Parts: sequence; structure tokens; C-alpha cells
Amino acid sequence: MIIDGMADRPLEELGGKTPLEVANTPNMDQMAKIGINGIMDPIKPGIRPGSDTSHLSILGYDPYQVYTGRGPFEAAGVGVEVRPGDIAFRCNFSTSDEDGIIIDRRAGRIREGTSLIAQKINGINLEPGVEVIFKESTGHRAVLVLRGEGLSDQVSDADPKHEGKVPKEIVALDDSEEAQKTARILNELVKTSYEVLKDHPVNLERMKNKENPANIILPRGAGAVPEVQPFHEKYGLKAACIAETGLILGIGKITGMDLIEAEGATGGIDTDLNSIGRCIMDTATRNYDFILINIDGADESGHDGILKEKVDFLTRVDSVIGQVMQLEDVIFILTADHSTPISIMDHTGDPVPLIIKGPALRVDDVEQFSERAAAKGGLCRIRGSDVMNIVMDLTNRATKFGA
Ligand code: ZN
Ligand code: ZN
Repeated sequence: MIIDGMADRPLEELGGKTPLEVANTPNMDQMAKIGINGIMDPIKPGIRPGSDTSHLSILGYDPYQVYTGRGPFEAAGVGVEVRPGDIAFRCNFSTSDEDGIIIDRRAGRIREGTSLIAQKINGINLEPGVEVIFKESTGHRAVLVLRGEGLSDQVSDADPKHEGKVPKEIVALDDSEEAQKTARILNELVKTSYEVLKDHPVNLERMKNKENPANIILPRGAGAVPEVQPFHEKYGLKAACIAETGLILGIGKITGMDLIEAEGATGGIDTDLNSIGRCIMDTATRNYDFILINIDGADESGHDGILKEKVDFLTRVDSVIGQVMQLEDVIFILTADHSTPISIMDHTGDPVPLIIKGPALRVDDVEQFSERAAAKGGLCRIRGSDVMNIVMDLTNRATKFGA
């Protein structure tokens, strides 16, 4: 179970403590007491991980080999059946005026009607032999996949990053023909998207209601879908992924896990933690050897720099831990994918705390779950890439190295 962005740095306003140290977490503390504790560098000491690269590393995939960008994972996470070699992008539905100036990068934070708009772009024919797959994600977000011969992910972004500017021209980032072809198709797509969307019924309705229309598509974050050995093949474990965000569901999807979405999961601090708890307990009774769980809210409050929200969320997550503590005969690992310190409002490379609970462990004398308490535990300091080896060993599935 990965509590996204849970770990933090000491804060003056907490008397030098971290949010996790002040949050009231009796169940996590109990787990620390009966488990082995340690700290983990998700990738390497000092490397600031993304959620995606960290999860890959913890699952035993080398992110320096398999990670090509966020696009492929986002696309897989919203249910596009991506294939190795596809070029995937994250996109915004944005608002362009008649002169081509982007007046709202998020199209009035549109929430409804995007699937109807996406249907107009999906399957659009821009170049023979290149399939355009386009699907809405949450809110103003969407994903684009280009499939065909002779494409490249070495292309720049269209998103101008600020309102009041025209979309950036997408350019090839190397001198390959593939990159030039891909850039050409993308520029064509941006232009065409305005033509086919400006009078879309959903947009006419929005304009009538004085809302910004979603009348242009701005792609960014190109990545080639990597070849990834399925998790069940790598470890012989039938796996499920319970996650809230498209990015983490995409990690589950690309590694071949079954995706399970809990009702009421929002990926924010308003998520339905009771429902997530029930979903975990229900999934645990099904025929899985391994379950990856990601709960996202603490990361959000870290990015927003809102201390009270982070402490409250960690306090509430503790009840989910209380539920899963009841599972017997499982190896349970509680950790984070990175620190998202309130003071930094982004991910940092500080190591994260980790507990392993299960039968017949060499329990240590740590009695609290926190960044500092965990550092005194019996597991000492490990890397994300050690986690699956430890799981395979503790569940007696590992094979001996040597004679
Ligand atoms: Zn994360
Ligand atoms: Zn984050």
C-alpha cells in the first residue's frame, strides 16, 4: 500500500515535527510495533521521483529503462489499449479565440460533455497509415495515441503554458524523419481540432451559458509505449491494482495487472476512504497473489502546501490501515512513493518510511510510524528496487542464487 506523497520534512510550525509525526495514527503505529521498519529510497538516494517512476521501481522495473514519459501510462490508465511502439500524449481541452489565441488552457475546467467532444477527434484521418486514438480523461484532461509506422516521441509540446498566446508549434527534437512526420501530424491535429470542435453542440451550449468552450486540443508529454514484461510473468504473481488516478492505473495496466477502481475514489482529500477500505478487503478475498494499492490525497495536499489538510488526511487514512490489519497470512507493506513536503510543494528525494507486517518476521523495537522512527528499524535503508525481492523471499517464492 502506497500512501502517495505521505512523507515530509520537519516543519517549524509543528515544533520541528513532520505531518506524519503529528497525525494521530494508532493503527500505523501498531503496525510499526508488530512489523519490521525501515526507510526506502524509491529510486536512489536524493533522486526526486515522479509517482510513475517510483511505482515502476518499487514493482521491480528499472524506470531508467522502461520510462519514456507520462503519456503512455496516462493513456493506459484511462482505458486505451496501448501497444508497444504507440506514441502517447497527455492533452488539454483548451479554449481558443477566433484569432487562435489560447484564452483558457483548461476550457473553463470543463467536467461534462468531454466524451462527446472526444468522439469527434477519435479516429480522425490526418495521414494515411496513422491511426489517431483520442479519449477523454478527468476534467479538462485527455489522452492521444498515434499508432502507425514511422512515428517518434522526439517532439515538443503544443501547450503554450500561459494564456494569451497561440499554441506552440510542435517541432522535431532530433533530425529523424520520424520526428518530423510526427510533428507535422500533431500540428495538423491541433489546427483541425479547432475546425471540428468550434461548433460542436457541447461547445455551443457552453458558450450559451457563458462558459469557455473546449474547442482545441493541446498535446504534450510525448512518450513511446514501452515494452514491459508483464508482472505475472516476471514474478508468477496474479496481481490487481487498486488506484485512484489514471497515472497509477496506467502503471497497473501496462504491467498487466487487473485494474480495480473503488467507488467514490477521487484521488483527492475528499476521496471515499471507507469505500477504498471495503474495496481492498473485497479484493483480498478474491484470487490474487499481489495487490498494489495507491491512495493519493496526501500528495495533493503536499502539492497545495496545505498542512492541516495533509495531517487530517493522514489521520483519516489510518482507519483504512485499521481494516487491512485484520488480514491474516499476508505480507503487508505500507510505504510512500516519495516525499511531498509541505514546505516544497513538490516531490523530494528524501527517503520514505516503510513497514513490513506478516508472519514470522524479525520484528524490531520501533513503536511509531514516521520518517524518523522508521529509520531506526531492522530493515535499515533499502531501495525501491529491493521491495519485490523482499516480497518474493518472505513469501518463500524466491529461488536460490548459487548452489
Ligand atoms: Zn506520488
Ligand atoms: Zn505528486
